Amino acid sequence: MTTPPLIGAQGLHVTFPGRRGAGPARAVDGVELDIRPGEIVALVGESGCGKSTLARALLGLVRPTAGQISYEGRELSYSSRALRAHRRQVQLVLQDPSGSLNPRHTVYDAVAEGLRIHGHAGDERAAVAEALSRAGLRPPERFFLRYPHELSGGQRQRVVIAGALVLEPRLLVADEPVASLDASVRGEILALLLRLRTELGLAALVVTHDLGLAWNIADRVAVMYLGRIVETGTVEEVLTAPRHPYTQALLSVLPEAPGTPQILTGEPPDPSRIPPGCRFHARCPALASGQAERAGVAEACRTQDPEMLHAAREPQSACHLSARRAVPT
Ligand code: SF4
Repeated sequence: MTTPPLIGAQGLHVTFPGRRGAGPARAVDGVELDIRPGEIVALVGESGCGKSTLARALLGLVRPTAGQISYEGRELSYSSRALRAHRRQVQLVLQDPSGSLNPRHTVYDAVAEGLRIHGHAGDERAAVAEALSRAGLRPPERFFLRYPHELSGGQRQRVVIAGALVLEPRLLVADEPVASLDASVRGEILALLLRLRTELGLAALVVTHDLGLAWNIADRVAVMYLGRIVETGTVEEVLTAPRHPYTQALLSVLPEAPGTPQILTGEPPDPSRIPPGCRFHARCPALASGQAERAGVAEACRTQDPEMLHAAREPQSACHLSARRAVPT
């Protein structure tokens, strides 16, 4: 029996009014995604691809234009009471701990803030100590009265994580959780997220532009381009045998990648100008090199939007060429 999803997006669209002269920006443009209890999913893509908007929609911070977010099988309601309960269960960890922590608040106050907002009825001091300890700041009492400037970057990120853990959430949404940290402490923070999954069954959506980070932490990967998930599968499936030309290009520029890097050219993605056909076609190396033409899909690449991917477990790619390759001959 498969475990039902903890949280999911069904047919999700989030559209913002366009800048002057531009059409509406389709930041999330038809996304299906499931995250199961204890699962770590990496949401990968370039900046501006819509991954942060999708994450904010899962947190209930952005209301969908169409489609829905579900939590434990129930559609998320946008009443203030329901959102309050949802935001307790689904906690955000931001990338820059210096920006997320008030420099005038002690570590204790920073971690206790969520408890106070949510009117915690239990022992506040014990809950703060427990959260700091879980985040690896031990003994916790030693950190209570410290200020952010007295901590290292890694310790500050642990305080931010403790501030999320204190509310005993089921899911962390971590937006570039180690992007601002030195390489030496990145591994420690990633190990902490993995330990929290093992100890607490905590699920995580890790939003990142870094495929190497996805490899180190995720069970599954969803690659996003211009508002859509264009490839999804287990971390091994997506990162060792990518099907979508966009994923292939992202992987080819990693320092350890074999072969020639595929530098993407063409217009930078603009969600208010999503091209017809495959949204990646103007930059697609497989189309530019004639590979799609030889496979007989070039016309479809330019005129037919590949089908939206489903929130299924099997590896999927929104690409006419990879669909053609998957057809047995
Ligand atoms: Fe490239 Fe065509 Fe696949 Fe789009 S559908 S990624 S243009 S090969």
